[in-house]
Amino acid sequence: MSRNLKNLIKKPAVISTLAFFVLFAIVAVIAFTNSPNTEDNVSAPVLADPVTRSGYGLYIDGELIAATSIEAVIGDTLESVLNARTEEFTDFKVTSASFTNMITTVYGEYEEDAFVTSADLARLLGIESESSYTTSVTNYAGVSAGVTLNLRVTVEDTATTVLESDIVYVDNSNMLATHEDVVVTEGQDGITEDTYESVFVNGQCISKKFLSSTVVVEAVDRVIQRGVLDNERVFASAEDTAVDGSPFIMPYDGGYISSYYGWRSMGWHTGIDIIGGFGVSCYGDPFWAARDGIVTFADYSGTYGLIIIIQHEDGSETRYAHCSAAKVEVGEYVEQGQVIGNIGTSGYVTGAHLHFEIRFDGQTVNPLEYVRLYK
Ligand SMILES: [Zn+2]
Repeated sequence: MSRNLKNLIKKPAVISTLAFFVLFAIVAVIAFTNSPNTEDNVSAPVLADPVTRSGYGLYIDGELIAATSIEAVIGDTLESVLNARTEEFTDFKVTSASFTNMITTVYGEYEEDAFVTSADLARLLGIESESSYTTSVTNYAGVSAGVTLNLRVTVEDTATTVLESDIVYVDNSNMLATHEDVVVTEGQDGITEDTYESVFVNGQCISKKFLSSTVVVEAVDRVIQRGVLDNERVFASAEDTAVDGSPFIMPYDGGYISSYYGWRSMGWHTGIDIIGGFGVSCYGDPFWAARDGIVTFADYSGTYGLIIIIQHEDGSETRYAHCSAAKVEVGEYVEQGQVIGNIGTSGYVTGAHLHFEIRFDGQTVNPLEYVRLYK
C-alpha cells in the first residue's frame, strides 16, 4: 500500500484520477443526503407515499366511515341525517329520535382521501333516502361499510274515541212496571282524546302503550225513569167469580200511583190515588169500571166530591171519587172497562186524580192487592 501511495503522489496523471474520485464522492454524498428514506426506496420502490393528516374519524359500529377536520361537523351532519329520516313522522309528535348504533369520533391521523365535506358525509350516511327504514352506510371510498344506521323514534299519537252515553234507569215506586218508560234526560255522547306512545325502529312499530286520556266532550247520561210497582198482582181471594184471575182491573191507565192505600200524613187513606204522570194533568181523562156491576151512587159527597159507587155481584163495591163528570146513572148496569166518568178535582184534593177504593162488606182493602192492570 505505501508503495502505491508513493506512486500516486509522484505521477500527475495519477493525481487527476484522484481528483475525479474525490468529485464522485462529493456527488455521492450529496445524493445520499437528499434521499429522505433509503429503506422505503428499497422495500417499495414503485408506490407513492399515502399522504395523511390529523382529523376526526367517524366510526359506526367500529367501522371508519370518513374523517373531518372539524369535530362539530360530524355531530351536525348526524343530526341533519336524523332529522331527514324522521320527517315521515310529521303526523306524530316526535318525543325522541336517535341512532341506536355505537357511534364514536376518534382523533387521529387519517388518509387525505378519508376527509369529506359535510354534504358528502350526509350522503354517505344516507340522507337522500329520507326514509325511516334501514339505511346502509357507505364509507369515504364509496364502499359499503357493512353497517346500517338504525333509527329509533318515539312518538306520541292521539286518537279520538266516542263515549256512548250510559243509560241510567231510575226506579219509580209510584209508577207501574207496565207503564211506558219516561225519558228524564236525553243524554249525549262524549268524546275523549287518547294519547299513545309508540316506538318505531327502522320504521317498524315495536311497542305502543296507552299514556293518557282527555275528555273533550263530557258524556251525559240518558236517564230513564221506569216503574217498579208490581203489576203482576192478581186477585188473591178464592171466592171471586172471575173467569181468569181477579175480577177487578185498574180503572185508569195513568201509570202512576200518587198515593197508596194505608197510613199517610193526613191519616188513613182508604184507597189509591191514580194520576196520569208527573207534570201531566189527567183532568178530564176518562176512567172505567173496574168490574161489572150496578151503579148505586153517582153524586157529590163531602170530601169525595163527585163520586161513583158500583156494587158487584158478590156484594163488593168499588168507588171512584173527585170526578169532574159522571157518565152513568144510579141503577145502571155497567160492564168492566166501560167508561163511567172523567177525572177531576171535586171534593178535597190538591190536584186532579182518581181516588179508587175496593170494599168488601163495607171494609176497605188495598186495591193493589186485588186489581189486574187495565183492561
Ligand atoms: Zn185518595
